[in-house]
Amino acid sequence: MKASGHCAGRTGFVRDLLIANSICRPIEFDRLLFFAGMRFGSRKSWWGHGRPRPQSHEGLDLCFFADRSGRYFRLDETVCVPAAFDSRVVAMIPDFLGTTVIAAHEMAGRAGRCLLFYAHITPDKGLHLGQRLEAGRCFARISGENKKRWLPPHLHLSMAAEGNLPPLERLDWPMVNRLDRDLFMDPEPILDSDFQMMDFIARTDLYAAFVPVSSKNGQQRGPGAGKTGHCHETP
Ligand SMILES: [Zn+2]
Repeated sequence: MKASGHCAGRTGFVRDLLIANSICRPIEFDRLLFFAGMRFGSRKSWWGHGRPRPQSHEGLDLCFFADRSGRYFRLDETVCVPAAFDSRVVAMIPDFLGTTVIAAHEMAGRAGRCLLFYAHITPDKGLHLGQRLEAGRCFARISGENKKRWLPPHLHLSMAAEGNLPPLERLDWPMVNRLDRDLFMDPEPILDSDFQMMDFIARTDLYAAFVPVSSKNGQQRGPGAGKTGHCHETP
C-alpha cells in the first residue's frame, strides 16, 4: 500500500537547525550543498570511491552548506538536532554511526501517523520512548562516532507513513534496508532551503574540504542558546 498525501505538514527544518545552533550569527548561511548521493532515491554514494549504494537511498543526508561569501562548511558533532514536528518518540534503534530516533507526528486530514527517522545522532541523556518532542527544540546531537573518518558526521532523515512499515517493535536497520523504497517519502519539503548540487570527486577528504561548523562558531553554545538569535532577519 502506498501512502496517500505527504507527511511534511510543517517546513522550515533548516531554519530551525540554524537558530537552535546559533549558526546564523557568525556564519551567514546561504544554501545547502548536496552531492547527488545524499538525496532521496539516489543509487550513488558520496564517500570514498563513490561506489553505488546496494539499494537506493531511502532518505536524505544533511551535512554541507555554503555561506554568502561562498565558503563551504559542514555540520559536525557539536550540532544539536531539533525536532521537525510536534511529535513523540516511538522507537530508538542503533545505526552504524550512532542512534536512530524515530518520532511520530499526526497530520490534519491524514489517517494514521507519519514517522520521521533522525539517524546518526546521539540522543540527549534521558530521552525515552513516549517522550514528546516540540518542533524546533533540540533532543539530540549529531553523532561523531565514525572514528575511521570515512564519512563525516551528518544527519540522515527518512520519512514514511507508519501504516506502510513493519511494526515498530520489529524495526531495525537491516530490515529497513530490505524494504521497498516506494514505502518512503522524500523528506526534502520539510527543509525549506535553497540548495546547490556539487560534483562528487572520488576519495576527497570530506573532513578537510569543508570547515567544521564548530571551528567557525567558536563561542560556547549551551542548550537553548540561539533561541533568541538573529536568524529571523536573514531567512
Ligand atoms: Zn543517508
